[in-house]
Amino acid sequence: MSDKQGISPTDATTANFLFSQPVRVGVLGFGGLGQAAARVLAPKREMLWVAAADQKGYAYDSAGLNPDTCIAAYQAQGSVGYVEPIGTLSNHSILELIEKAPVDGYFLALPNLPNTFMASVIQQFIQAGWQGVLVDALKRTSAVEQLLALQNELQAAGITYMTGCGATPGLLTAAATLAAQSYAEIHQVKITFGVGIANWEAYRATIREDIAHLPGYDVDRARSMSDAEVEALLDRTDGILHLENMEHADDVMLELAGICPRERVTVGGVVDTRNPKKPLSTNVQVTGRTFEGKISTHTFTLGDETSMAANVCGPAFGYLKAGVSLHQRGMYGLFTAAEVMPKFVK
Ligand code: NAD
Repeated sequence: MSDKQGISPTDATTANFLFSQPVRVGVLGFGGLGQAAARVLAPKREMLWVAAADQKGYAYDSAGLNPDTCIAAYQAQGSVGYVEPIGTLSNHSILELIEKAPVDGYFLALPNLPNTFMASVIQQFIQAGWQGVLVDALKRTSAVEQLLALQNELQAAGITYMTGCGATPGLLTAAATLAAQSYAEIHQVKITFGVGIANWEAYRATIREDIAHLPGYDVDRARSMSDAEVEALLDRTDGILHLENMEHADDVMLELAGICPRERVTVGGVVDTRNPKKPLSTNVQVTGRTFEGKISTHTFTLGDETSMAANVCGPAFGYLKAGVSLHQRGMYGLFTAAEVMPKFVK
């Protein structure tokens, strides 16, 4: 049983506090990010983690799921569906969960492999008649563009969909939007990320999707690589992936937000798959011209101690909270991390 209580009006220190009960949250995908999301949610009073799904099953408990039990079952047996008595094994875990579980908002911590997978999951939500808030940490421009095409359907379905709400796109895209305000014209947005993880198996989809950006690779090739082939590639590079000029949705998001044309946005970085220490400090540099004609650069740098998981899951739930307040005001459809401010989840 969870000891989380509904939040009384006296806890609402700001007028924009809209929830009388904790927001019931589900996490789809229970790999590296999904498990981190469970840990991030555990101490929160405003959100209650009630549902999780992976490829082989799902778990639901209206009183709140236990992260330790779910992570232990997933790591030992490969699915949260094995958690007794609240787990169910299923090859259609997402659809069954959508249909059975009362959930206010989902974080989609799913691989986008193939590149159309997330859009197909969203179609399942629409077709099931589900209403609520969805948040993703999608990365590719072409993946976010597929969601743009669903804008009207999402709106008609009563779904508030927050896309590109991880770290990059996400936190850094939002920071670029803020930094841009000092300028009359934006010349360049340059995002450089450093990621350090102890072993690639903890984030298989993230690493496969990064490999897809290497010269000579694409999403389909990276998706079809066996684990042994990924390991052989990482052996050749000493566990390091150097990524340049990536197809990252920060560009379309900043263009849609009216900051600058997408050609002025670049994303690259270094991923070390054998060391949790970041190989470089993640930062976004925003260069522009002020109204006085001065050219300058704002730089926003993330603390080196913050992990990829912290910088993805924190913003994802901040945007989920923002999405819930939009949804309560009847604002449905697609929003990006560059368009809406995340709220802070207590
Ligand atoms: P992972 O490989 O560790 O885990 C994926 C999970 O999804 C697994 O639990 C798997 O069982 C589940 N899954 C796969 N197919 C499924 C299906 N059909 N139904 C239900 N569950 C299914 O993944 P990860 O490394 O945590 O990455 C998740 C996503 O987050 C990736 O797409 C990655 O690119 C993205 N990501 C975004 C950012 C960002 O800053 N925007 C950063 C890191 C990762």
